[in-house]
Amino acid sequence: MTMTMTTTMTKRLFLFLIFILFTCMIHAQSNRFGTVLFENQTALEQQNNEIRAGICCWKDGRNSAVALTFDDWSPGQYPLVVPALQKYGLVGTFFPILNNIERYDYSWAAIQKTLEQGNEIGNHTISHPDLTKLPIGELARETTEPQEVIREHVGTNVNTLAYPYGAGAGDTEDDKRVRDYLRAGGHIAARSVWRISNYGYSFANSEDDYYRIQMFALTEQTTTEEVCSEFDKIASGGGLLTLLYHSIDDEQNSYNDNWYAQVKLQSFCDQLAYLQKLKEQKKVWVTTFRNAILYHREANNATLKIKKSTKKYVDLSLQVTDTSLLHIVLQKDLIPISVVVFKSALDNYKSITQNGMELPIANQTDTYIMFDAIPNAGVIRLEK
Ligand SMILES: [Zn+2]
Repeated sequence: MTMTMTTTMTKRLFLFLIFILFTCMIHAQSNRFGTVLFENQTALEQQNNEIRAGICCWKDGRNSAVALTFDDWSPGQYPLVVPALQKYGLVGTFFPILNNIERYDYSWAAIQKTLEQGNEIGNHTISHPDLTKLPIGELARETTEPQEVIREHVGTNVNTLAYPYGAGAGDTEDDKRVRDYLRAGGHIAARSVWRISNYGYSFANSEDDYYRIQMFALTEQTTTEEVCSEFDKIASGGGLLTLLYHSIDDEQNSYNDNWYAQVKLQSFCDQLAYLQKLKEQKKVWVTTFRNAILYHREANNATLKIKKSTKKYVDLSLQVTDTSLLHIVLQKDLIPISVVVFKSALDNYKSITQNGMELPIANQTDTYIMFDAIPNAGVIRLEK
């Protein structure tokens, strides 16, 4: 009896020590490269194996992601926001109320131009109702018709949504019904109007959390200093910051965009300039809401394994196993994930291929090589 207890305790102590060692190793290795989500387990188990590889938290090894979102397609957004984003080399996500698209002269040509600059067009329903209060038929129409109409006119897939009034992100049965409907309609994420509280990479602890993404909303009173401090916070702490803008107009109110929470064009440009600087310093990945979420959903559920390592090459496999995501997103619509392979002193990789296709090398230093690979798309071979 005593023997068994002692053995059990020793075993527990041993397992605990292993756990601590393992955690420290992940930390130590991650610190060398502050952006690696996790490293391949096989390499951690075989300490003598010099090949170590990891999946980057965000594209190109950035520490954080920022998604700028604009709701309603209010009158200042196309003439002022779209050119401002282009000027600063940034992209954003517009959530137009479908009825508003044709209400203005810019019409579908404006949506097309907005897309051509790399921006995203998301779903904000046809008429901006409280989705939790609709009968099922109306819920279906309000959420699927914008997808169909936008695809018909400009050929883009719409698979993110911003809840009008934030209704649908809550905990009631009606909220859950809305979210189930969005999933069934092929949406990969939805944005709430809840103030961000969970700074950090683990902002989505369950699949459902992707349908209640928190954000930072601007009001008339928000100062540029506050916005920049939000940018700083995410750049240093990591994670995703989604900003929510509504009306934007210049000092003269040229577009009468005073619908809601108006931000002056000059302040908006100051905010973009600050963000552009962080982007140039490689501290943030400024991308669309869709790409940020898709990357996170893929990377957070991916496994990277070393299949084979010889003197001439290293073979890796990259697999996404999130079945709820793969149910919604086709293989061809998955986005590439940034992978990092740490090098031993003698390694120098000449080329990387996946399924015979050459993958461009994003970055190669003395200590690591970074590149984008497509999950579930065949073996990745690094030639030495
Ligand atoms: Zn709205």
